[in-house]
Amino acid sequence: MQCIQQRTIKDEVVIKGIGLHSGEPVTLRLIPAESYEGIKFIKNGVYIPAHVENASGFDFSTTLEKDGQIVRTVEHLMAALYFTGIDNIYIEIQGEEIPILDGSAIEFIKHIKSAGIKILPEEKLFAVLKKEVVVKDGDKFIKGTPSDEFSATYHAQYNNSIIGNKKYTFSPSKELYENVAMARTYCFLEEVEMLQKMGLAKGGSLENAVVFDKDDVLNPEGLRFEDEPVKHKVLDLIGDLYLLGFPLIADVYSFKGGHRLNAQFVRKLIDEDAFDRKYFSELEGNRLKRAVA
Ligand code: ZN
Repeated sequence: MQCIQQRTIKDEVVIKGIGLHSGEPVTLRLIPAESYEGIKFIKNGVYIPAHVENASGFDFSTTLEKDGQIVRTVEHLMAALYFTGIDNIYIEIQGEEIPILDGSAIEFIKHIKSAGIKILPEEKLFAVLKKEVVVKDGDKFIKGTPSDEFSATYHAQYNNSIIGNKKYTFSPSKELYENVAMARTYCFLEEVEMLQKMGLAKGGSLENAVVFDKDDVLNPEGLRFEDEPVKHKVLDLIGDLYLLGFPLIADVYSFKGGHRLNAQFVRKLIDEDAFDRKYFSELEGNRLKRAVA
């Protein structure tokens, strides 16, 4: 029987950078973990599972908190762990916030690959959605529909010609994850001052974010993809969905959603008992083929 196994990293790896919002230097140490450990942050000796039950803040990033210990801006690292199929890892953090690096997930993926990926003996677990689940906030919504495979769609609606009314779908069986993982975070010049007054985006620069001035891109190198902003929203969605604790098998459609709505969606999946936990070999039919890229 075909068996896709759980994964961790082979060797420890250190990642240094600055926090996007705090502007402070931060060091991460990624440490291999055994099967069923899951993804856990370690801060001042406190283990903080990367699970929605510990999600406590959603202003422009996702924050985890346990026993008074806070880790901010986890979503791009979570997406990198999803894309590399890592189920089990410890992430020791010295500092407040996961480093922003280049504003996307690709630099985390390079560090994970440099550490090497270790295949563990135990089989991988998935969360298979068994009924439709919707969360709403005004005109924004996220809808999950049972499916044979995972897909994440983001539909953006901005009064901006570049971001505009764009939609993008990522599905691991249909395309390379780099198309999403390389998409950088973005903001508008007129927001920067407001964010900084709120104590946010202190580490933001053209090195780690796309900055729009109305319809112009201020970064001299331009965009990595013409639809980079909507692809980044898909990246954020994928990172936040991984706070379920397992890769989800479902079609997820977000209309203008953000971190808060993403977390509400994940909580509702748990509260409504909307998914079955299944080992890879228990997946039926097409799911068996399509669960993993
Ligand atoms: Zn983001």
